[in-house]
Amino acid sequence: MTKPVINCQHVSKTYLDGHFSTDVLSNINLTIERGQRIAIVGSSGSGKSTLLHLLGGLDQQTSGDITLMGLSVRDLSDKQLSQLRNRHIGFVYQFHHLLAEFSALDNVAIPLIIGGTSAKVAKQRAKAILSEVGLNHRLTHKPGELSGGERQRAAIARALITQPDILLADEPTGNLDQRTAATIFDLLIQLNASTGAAIVVVTHDQQLAAKMQHQFVISDGHLTVAS
Ligand code: ADP
Ligand code: MG
Repeated sequence: MTKPVINCQHVSKTYLDGHFSTDVLSNINLTIERGQRIAIVGSSGSGKSTLLHLLGGLDQQTSGDITLMGLSVRDLSDKQLSQLRNRHIGFVYQFHHLLAEFSALDNVAIPLIIGGTSAKVAKQRAKAILSEVGLNHRLTHKPGELSGGERQRAAIARALITQPDILLADEPTGNLDQRTAATIFDLLIQLNASTGAAIVVVTHDQQLAAKMQHQFVISDGHLTVAS
C-alpha cells in the first residue's frame, strides 16, 4: 500500500506568547492520500492557516504526529524538512506572494532555478505550466499588470512547477469575486486530474468547498467531516 502524502494524528497546536497561551487546534486527525481533493472550511480565526502551515511543515505542532511522505516531521532536521517541502509540497497563499519586479514567467521559473535546474529549462517548463493555467498570453507581465485572478493562476503555476505531490492552498480565492473564484476552483480540479497532485484548499466559501471530493469543517479547534 502506498503511504499517505500527509498524515496527522492527534495533532494540537498552542501558541505561546509571553504569558499568554492560545489553544488553536486540538486533537486533529487527518489523512491525505495521493490525488485527493480536500476542502477545509472555517470562519476567520478558526485555525485554518495554522493547520495548513503544520501540514506543509512550515510550523511545528505542540503535540501529536505529522508525517509527510511517510516521514515524521519532528524527526527531520531543518535541512531535511526544507528539502522534503521543496520536492513534495506546493503552497498557494491568499495574497499570491509573487515577486513584483519579476515577470510571470520568471516568478514561476524561480523555484526550479533555486532547485538547481538551468534557467533555460526552468523557463521552458514555466511557459508550459503557465499555458496550462491559461496565462500563455501573459508571460512577460509583472504581477502589478495582472488581474487578481491571473495573479492567483500564476501563483498556482509557481506552486506546481516542481511537480509536488500535494498542493496546499490557503484561501486562494479570498480576494476574488465569486465568478473568478469559481474558475480558480475549476482550475484546481483540472490540475488535480492532469498532475495527480493532491489538493487541500482552505476557504470560507461553502459553495466552493462543495466542488471538492471531501469537505471538513474546523471549529473550536476541532476538525470534523462536513455534513
Ligand atoms: P484562520 O486562518 O482560520 O483565520 P489562523 O490559523 O490564522 O486562523 O489563526 C487562528 C488563531 O491563532 C487566531 O486566534 C490567531 O490570532 C492565533 N494565532 C495565529 N498565529 C499566531 C501566532 N503566531 N501567535 C499567537 N497567536 C496566533
Ligand atoms: Mg488564514
